[in-house]
Amino acid sequence: MADARAEYRAAFCEGLRPPDPMTVSQWADAHRMLSRKGSSEPGPWRTARTPFLREPMDCLSPSSPWRRVVLMFGSQMGKTEVVLNWLGAVIHLWPGPALLVQPTLDMAKRLNRQRLDPLLKECPVLAELIAPARSRDSGNTMFLKEFRGGLFVLTGANSGSGLQSMPAAYLAADEVSSYPLEADDKGDPLENAETRTSTFPMGKVLITSTPGTRGACRITAEFESRSDRRQLAALMPCCGAREVLRWREHMKWDRPDGEVWCQCPACGERVGQHHKTSMLLGAEWQASAQGDGITAGFHLPGWYAPAGWHSWELIRDEFLRAKADPLLLKGWVNKRAAEAWEDEALAKVSADGLMTRAAAEPYASGTVPAGVAVLLMAVDTQDTWLEVSVWGFGRGEEAWLCWHEKIQGDPADLGADGPWAQVDVIRRTQWPREAGGVMTVRHCGVDTGGHFTQEAYEFCRARVREGVVALKGSSTKAAPALSRGSKVDVSWRGRTLKGGLLLYLVGGDSLKRTIYARLRRDGAGPGSVHLGQNATEEFCEGLTCERLVPRQVKGFQVLEWQKPSGARNEPLDLAVYCLALLELVKRRYNRATMWDQLERAATGGVSALPVAAAAAPAVAVDGTAPPRQRRRSRGGGGSSFVSSW
Ligand SMILES: [Zn+2]
Repeated sequence: MADARAEYRAAFCEGLRPPDPMTVSQWADAHRMLSRKGSSEPGPWRTARTPFLREPMDCLSPSSPWRRVVLMFGSQMGKTEVVLNWLGAVIHLWPGPALLVQPTLDMAKRLNRQRLDPLLKECPVLAELIAPARSRDSGNTMFLKEFRGGLFVLTGANSGSGLQSMPAAYLAADEVSSYPLEADDKGDPLENAETRTSTFPMGKVLITSTPGTRGACRITAEFESRSDRRQLAALMPCCGAREVLRWREHMKWDRPDGEVWCQCPACGERVGQHHKTSMLLGAEWQASAQGDGITAGFHLPGWYAPAGWHSWELIRDEFLRAKADPLLLKGWVNKRAAEAWEDEALAKVSADGLMTRAAAEPYASGTVPAGVAVLLMAVDTQDTWLEVSVWGFGRGEEAWLCWHEKIQGDPADLGADGPWAQVDVIRRTQWPREAGGVMTVRHCGVDTGGHFTQEAYEFCRARVREGVVALKGSSTKAAPALSRGSKVDVSWRGRTLKGGLLLYLVGGDSLKRTIYARLRRDGAGPGSVHLGQNATEEFCEGLTCERLVPRQVKGFQVLEWQKPSGARNEPLDLAVYCLALLELVKRRYNRATMWDQLERAATGGVSALPVAAAAAPAVAVDGTAPPRQRRRSRGGGGSSFVSSW
């Protein structure tokens, strides 16, 4: 590499001349020839054919202040042309060391053969600048091309050594979502490549890709967390408004084989595809975020493709084919919508899907399905009400919601007229089993984390022998499902009992993952979740309102549970608490025989309540309370599998 080093130093010195004021798009219009080999439209390049590429290209010109350009594009929307035009202009006008990184060496080879060689041979101004290839150019970690005053290296992100070889004034990182997480144990390939540019204050970085899976997608992270998030606003022929076009909201069709049109977001007019050319010529990129001040980000879905490229009908047909299959749909969302795919573990579960599924399992509220071997109950303390869920669990932790209720009242009132009295009623109810007999709640967990901690403690303390336990959400991320229990002070009949109660911390983080994974399962069997007639719309919304969202913490990406502001997530919290209580049950049994024992106790008429035997007699409501009112699902999705598409 010694002579290469000397060459880029020379290149750097040449680069100190004031740069040519031409922009990349002007250069392309003046000099770029599209070859027969790599283009379906051979001949001179015309930026007017793909006007949305002008601004991204010009941000790469030395006259532009932007240092980094991020293109989150659908496939075949011109990303690579931006790379090639920039590279051509660099070689011709602003020579310096340039690095082009493809996901793999094989892809780099292919790009070299299909696009780069034709670019260099067929643009007359470039052909004369490129030195004839030497034998070492075909080295197996990279390709090296020399030109007057500069040097150009093409490599793969899977080659750690290729990425560490040279400083670069210009870096084009192509299809970064397909880069490996690490290259040859040498760390993050994108970061390594970008480090190459740090010694060039006037250097430029171009990062392009179709997106991948959210949370593991580099282009989405670049676009969302660093760039100014530009969206293309098309010029609407109907009313002259400039509007960003979204698939779900604006692209319409009557019949699956009919014409697709765009419903103008501004005036509602129906706009046909034949207007595309003028819509694109008049379009504007509109930034939607502050960004880091040096990164210009561009998001471009496939329905902005120019006339003659992939049509709206083609994209619709692909969409309809993909809709029912998460794998196909992921491809469509990445390649056409140019958006990150929400992976199962990260995606929102659909409330509609749960409603639809529950309609097919119509066991009544207040009855215990045959598979249930143990009933667990949780209480959430709010400011003006208590919220209660009773969940039944069976073999394989299959779960059935048996009761859900909001008990209005002041949680500070522990008396006979207060809401806690009703908690006792539910707790002691003998619920009728579908298979005959009755069953009572084995453990009741009370959330003590709200504004009524002492009242909740007091309630628990008086009922410890009846299986009531004090719970609190753990603030530690990787906390176990249920802690060992630690003693807390509790006020009791006017005095303080030191260490009078055991408080268990609940690891909601991992339990929510478990619950959301299980909610996606259809049918019966281990891990499946059933809601029956308890599945009101409000309950399903509450159960599904949270989602995992990636967030950067000190340079690391962490996933955090978030609920939309204003959403009521008590049904989810209560499910989390009941699943935590199941840990308490597991601790008292041999895991291998636990479900056998619980089932035998449930069916044998023997009380399954060793700890609560003393509390059994009170039967205050009959178990056949009226089933609650259900509302039909708001149309659509029989599938509970997630996506918002
Ligand atoms: Zn309009």
